[in-house]
Amino acid sequence: MALLTDRYQRPIDYLRVSITDRCDLRCIYCTPLGGAPKLAHDDILTYEEFLHLIQVSMDLGITKVRLTGGEPLVRKGVTDFCRRLAGIPGLQSLSLTTNGVMLEELAQDLYSAGIRRINISLDTLQPQKFLHITRRDEFDRVWRGIQAAEHAGFDPIKINVVVMRGINDDEILDLAKLTLQRPYHIRFIEFMSINGDSQWVLQHYVSSDEILEKLLTVAPLEPIVSQHTNGPARHFRWPDAKGVIGIISPISHHFCPSCNRIRLTADGKLRNCLFSDQEVDIKSPLRQGATDAELAQILRASIDNKPEKHSLQSDVFRKCQNRPMVAIGG
Ligand code: SAM
Repeated sequence: MALLTDRYQRPIDYLRVSITDRCDLRCIYCTPLGGAPKLAHDDILTYEEFLHLIQVSMDLGITKVRLTGGEPLVRKGVTDFCRRLAGIPGLQSLSLTTNGVMLEELAQDLYSAGIRRINISLDTLQPQKFLHITRRDEFDRVWRGIQAAEHAGFDPIKINVVVMRGINDDEILDLAKLTLQRPYHIRFIEFMSINGDSQWVLQHYVSSDEILEKLLTVAPLEPIVSQHTNGPARHFRWPDAKGVIGIISPISHHFCPSCNRIRLTADGKLRNCLFSDQEVDIKSPLRQGATDAELAQILRASIDNKPEKHSLQSDVFRKCQNRPMVAIGG
């Protein structure tokens, strides 16, 4: 199959699919206080519709799919959906991003369904702080979920940490030190402003350089270059550590030149850049009976319009107006 590229010759092979806007946490940087407006049930794509659009995107050249949310594991039937997706010939990678709250129950079923790559979001090792960040008292459950994922066979376990000054930057070393004993990938992500309060972002943003400086106070970091660790993260390892430290710098060292992704929201909108408000409705044509060729045309047009780069580096505090992160999927 011909390589799918955008007008800047970037290969586009990765689709992030948000299967629900619902979430069982209310993270302070992701969900507005009081919750995000909920989509009506009818506005959320059915699993059949997701499968149809994923197949059309694969016919165009998408080979990797990541499921996200909201929280993907709160949607009923998610493991069956994963099994059906995993069975699509030609899908090279099927992964999932979760807050881990339901992993204790679902890790084994997800593994059996064919999911092999899982990212778990966890910003703190302190239950009280977890409650503050997520507005829910679920630390112990998430921790047990991580153990369940390891037990089920997920390898590596990738843990995503959004670093925020004055909130969890004092735990960078504690979190990174998990890699000394466990084969985890601990990935520190720069805090991004999506529909956030700009003053708040200004106070809490920590650059990846500052994160690296902290990590270097413990021991030298050996860079890891591997075809298995591609994507936006830069990877390092402390000497003799079992796990890996990842640094993801969407703001200070943005990776737009190698961006390979598009997004499909739970209500059937295509987004070609995390930081852009531009959306294209693919649900309406799908429901009005568009042919696969017409749907492919809509996908193609969205990819063609993918911006060359986002504007957040020059304006870290810009707001995306139309959706909070919980309704995009990260
Ligand atoms: N509920 C799932 C989870 O927690 O992973 C999937 C959806 S969540 C929106 C996906 C990722 O986006 C999480 O790792 C979350 O930490 C990250 N995220 C949300 N808001 C963010 C922000 N303002 N800056 C950086 N990362 C953010």
